[in-house]
Amino acid sequence: MKICVVGAGWYGCHVALSLLQKGVKVDVFERSDRSISGASRYNQNRLHQGFHYPRDYETRKQSLEGFDWFIEHYGNLVATVSNNIYGIADKVSNVDFETYKQIMTASHLVYDDLVSSDIKSKFRNVSGMINTTEKLILNHQASRYFDDVLSGHITYKKFVDLSDDEIVLDLKDKYDFIIDCTWGCARKIPEFDYYYEPCIYFYYKKKIKVEFSMTLMDGEFFSIYPYDGDIYTLTSVRNTPISKTYDKNCVGELFQSAKQESYITRKRELFEEEVKSYYPEFLDDFEYLEPVFSLKTKLVSGTDYRGCMIAREGQLISIFSGKIDTLHIAEQEIMKVIFGE
Ligand SMILES: Cc1cc2nc3c(=O)[nH]c(=O)nc-3n(C[C@H](O)[C@H](O)[C@H](O)COP(=O)(O)OP(=O)(O)OC[C@H]3O[C@@H](n4cnc5c(N)ncnc54)[C@H](O)[C@@H]3O)c2cc1C
Repeated sequence: MKICVVGAGWYGCHVALSLLQKGVKVDVFERSDRSISGASRYNQNRLHQGFHYPRDYETRKQSLEGFDWFIEHYGNLVATVSNNIYGIADKVSNVDFETYKQIMTASHLVYDDLVSSDIKSKFRNVSGMINTTEKLILNHQASRYFDDVLSGHITYKKFVDLSDDEIVLDLKDKYDFIIDCTWGCARKIPEFDYYYEPCIYFYYKKKIKVEFSMTLMDGEFFSIYPYDGDIYTLTSVRNTPISKTYDKNCVGELFQSAKQESYITRKRELFEEEVKSYYPEFLDDFEYLEPVFSLKTKLVSGTDYRGCMIAREGQLISIFSGKIDTLHIAEQEIMKVIFGE
């Protein structure tokens, strides 16, 4: 059995490693010069438990299962985040604080009410806060780990155009299966309705001692999350998307215009305005560093479904997931297809 994996993000790397451990011959092709270099590097790196998804039961369920699985398999690639807080905005939230907590409790998610603390007193216009035990995925370490364990099996700087029928035919001749792990980028997966969302978010340096993260819910709100030491990411559901397109060929141009100084400055102002209306001391506590650009592939979903899905067209299998915590589902489904397990 010989399998080709296209894309060395979290999904491509994990699937390739699982297959190698089963004795399968695997070749991974990655267009950049290292693993974990696409969305798997440029994201908020939160190891979810489900608190982010009050509107989708299945996503919460997959996250909670995936959290324990991830710690068991990649526990050395995660860090604890002290004071990992979710707050519910007192106006325009899709759910109120009590309902939010009932949903989480019903899904067996464990949290503490944040009754009083230095952190709580920093925020206003928030109707309630909880403290959770979600973790941080250490993506630089993950990149080094996969570069090492997959060494000899990965070819870097190798772009594979899966939208070209001749290239796919050639791969089908050489391999029993081709697994597309490019998050819907190397070709359009016919079975799924999704679009591309070029994103901007920012790095800030924390100036205060206390460690915390704050995710405001539920709707178009911001999130401040640790990234690397005192460097934090600031994302915003409202302001992070640069645009939305169904045409992959438009993505480059959208990024190009977003990288202009005037656009970055305007976006930064919007992010900071938004945060300061809930966290007035934000710019006393954090210092601006730089913008970050990343591409999100997003499923069209009425409920905010962000779980893992697999599509199969003969020898060609595609993995599509909205988060890193569903590697276990990707692995299970791939093994079912390949070995009938
Ligand atoms: C702003 C933002 C914030 C996010 N926050 C979180 C979060 O906090 N927690 C979480 O769990 N998830 C988060 N996500 C989602 C998460 O990043 C993705 O679900 C996950 O990284 C997808 O992994 P992947 O391996 O499928 O894709 P990727 O990491 O994108 O990997 C695909 C790889 O394929 C390569 N590739 C693409 N096309 C080709 C080709 N034609 N030939 C060869 N190689 C190719 C790319 O270079 C890339 O390395 C966030 C995403 C964004 C954009």
